[in-house]
Amino acid sequence: MSERVVVALDVGGTGMKCALVRPDGVAVSTERHPTHAARGPAAVVDTILDVAEGLADKARADGLTPIAVGIAVPGVVDEARGVAVWSANVGFRDVPLRDLAATRLGLPTALGHDVRAGGLAEARLGAGRGTGHVLFVAIGTGIAAAHVVDGAHVVGAHGAAGEIGHVLVRPDGPRCGCGRPGCLEAVASASAIGRRYAELARETADAPVTAAEVAERAAAGEPLASQVWQEAVEALADGLATGQALFDVATIVLGGGLAQAGDRLLTPLRAALHERMTFHREPRLVAAALGDEAGCLGAALLALDAVGVLNHQEKR
Ligand SMILES: [Zn+2]
Repeated sequence: MSERVVVALDVGGTGMKCALVRPDGVAVSTERHPTHAARGPAAVVDTILDVAEGLADKARADGLTPIAVGIAVPGVVDEARGVAVWSANVGFRDVPLRDLAATRLGLPTALGHDVRAGGLAEARLGAGRGTGHVLFVAIGTGIAAAHVVDGAHVVGAHGAAGEIGHVLVRPDGPRCGCGRPGCLEAVASASAIGRRYAELARETADAPVTAAEVAERAAAGEPLASQVWQEAVEALADGLATGQALFDVATIVLGGGLAQAGDRLLTPLRAALHERMTFHREPRLVAAALGDEAGCLGAALLALDAVGVLNHQEKR
């Protein structure tokens, strides 16, 4: 029998990261395609199916056997029903993507949420590998998270478990996108940090300051940037301490744009988290290791799990 692979796609608002992935988690062939979301969801779905079929054909042409398909998408995803329920940046509204792909390719298909898929990959193949209980927190425009236990997502009764971005950390803080004031996401996401700095510095909206720039200015000793950065770090530590009280994980993996600040984030955050631990065991706090391929590798893991192929390279 020829070597088995899965077809994996991570669909974003601007691009799709795609790969043929072996059961050991190694991508043997990768492709990137534009999403062109402005064409509307029906056209995007056509592109997804075309790209997936093209990858399966490529696998066969290379003497490989495609055994399953995994697709990760942003927004609200009903993983059990395989439906892309809602997405702001791709435009999905109740698209039964899993069944559409399974029918088109004639292969078992899994549909997952992009951040949760990325968290799954980080937990099993990346920075959380070998540690069993992992909380993956992606800090970018918002704050999303995935709680992974022994290689499987804990998704909750309604698919929304681990949403640490909406833990209340500052009751009198700025209003969150979810409508409530003071969520962690409204205080410590990359966009919240940029907004807070601009507000205090009274910088005009046409010269927005990114969180990365705030981190740089803080490292250079600018007092205002240091204050804003420390406020965000303290809020993150409050949120993560709540997460640790609930989940008692071995490792917290930080991903998303803000994690690219590296030690400028990790060093003060470790200290602030340490201060908040009383009887709880302190988790290892590390940066994500798989970069922007995490979502695609996570989609591959969902596909492998769907057909029950054990990944022998993983140390669970
Ligand atoms: Zn919220």
